[in-house]
Amino acid sequence: MKKPKVAILGFGLVGRVAALMLHEQYQLSIFEAAPNANDNGAGALAAAMLAPMAESVICDTDIAQLGVEAMGLWPKLLAMLPSPVMYQQTGTLIVAHQQDMGDLRSFSQRLKPLAGHQAQQLTGQDIAKLEPELAGRFHQGIYLPSEGQLDNQAFYQASFELLQTKDCRFYFGQSFELQHDEHSNALVNDEVFDWIIDCRGIGAKKQLAGLRGVRGEVARVYAPEVTLNRPVRLMHPRYPIYIAPKPNHEFVIGATEIESQDDGPITVRSTLELLSAAYTVHSGFAEARVMALNAGLRPAFTDNRPKISVNAKVISINGLYRHGYLLAPAVVKQALSKELL
Ligand SMILES: Cc1cc2nc3c(=O)[nH]c(=O)nc-3n(C[C@H](O)[C@H](O)[C@H](O)COP(=O)(O)OP(=O)(O)OC[C@H]3O[C@@H](n4cnc5c(N)ncnc54)[C@H](O)[C@@H]3O)c2cc1C
Repeated sequence: MKKPKVAILGFGLVGRVAALMLHEQYQLSIFEAAPNANDNGAGALAAAMLAPMAESVICDTDIAQLGVEAMGLWPKLLAMLPSPVMYQQTGTLIVAHQQDMGDLRSFSQRLKPLAGHQAQQLTGQDIAKLEPELAGRFHQGIYLPSEGQLDNQAFYQASFELLQTKDCRFYFGQSFELQHDEHSNALVNDEVFDWIIDCRGIGAKKQLAGLRGVRGEVARVYAPEVTLNRPVRLMHPRYPIYIAPKPNHEFVIGATEIESQDDGPITVRSTLELLSAAYTVHSGFAEARVMALNAGLRPAFTDNRPKISVNAKVISINGLYRHGYLLAPAVVKQALSKELL
């Protein structure tokens, strides 16, 4: 029997998660504006931290709790892939320099209680046990033990690799639009589909009222002199940063958060702030090699909450803001459950 035809519009983070959930039951056609599969959209440059508790400081409790649920879904998705993708759940360490203890305290007070997640207050000795290379640098910190992260570059590569061997057609290098014919059929590229999943992130701005970009800038460095076992966040009044360790001594240092639709290259100011702040955490970053300096737009609605909408055979999943990795498996599952899974 012929499988129903589903189009996925946008092969970024949400598009990939949708494709992994659907590829066995449906014939997929995947439409991506970028010329290739692995270097596109916000998801490709993100730090890919899974930090429900740290993020609870700035998001609603139900969103953070959804993140806890979604974390349990990642290992199942990654297990489908033909090559291993680093998935780590060794927690997040939060630190501040002595003069910025007020910011650490304020962060601690704003953490929301989440089921199964408990923050731990740390002394300098505790910090040294968790991260030996930070011994003596920080005297107080906070540990969020059940948080995690994954290697998004490996995820992008492995998900494309898998889907190429399945019943999937790929179309790259063109900005695709949703169309409807006179019978209200949903089309992409003049082809009718049983369902279309619109996952274009900020690329769907014209169609989705209230969608905006929130600019984020990051550096990716190779730092052979630095070993960190988990993401480290530095509280700072002006330059709060995180450092997320990826395989082979690579680190993602981020991220600015600017209310701007500008998707141009990273600025000198942001580059200086990110890299200087990282150096104050670990002096080994002085000799690091800068591999990439990136900027991207996080797709967000006014309330910074994800939104699923269903209209005439089109399911739109968007607005994952700074929580795409944290939330995608749960949000996409929720979006597809009623009609397709
Ligand atoms: C600097 C930075 C750091 C981040 N760090 C984290 C983090 O640590 N943890 C976390 O949970 N989240 C993080 N995020 C957020 C996360 O990356 C986003 O929430 C997520 O990528 C949104 O997924 P998406 O698929 O909706 O959009 P995207 O990942 O942007 O994907 C959209 C895709 O659609 C394609 N597209 C657009 N228009 C069209 C068109 N017309 N036709 C075809 N294709 C089109 C784009 O090329 C792209 O591939 C970060 C984001 C940024 C910018």
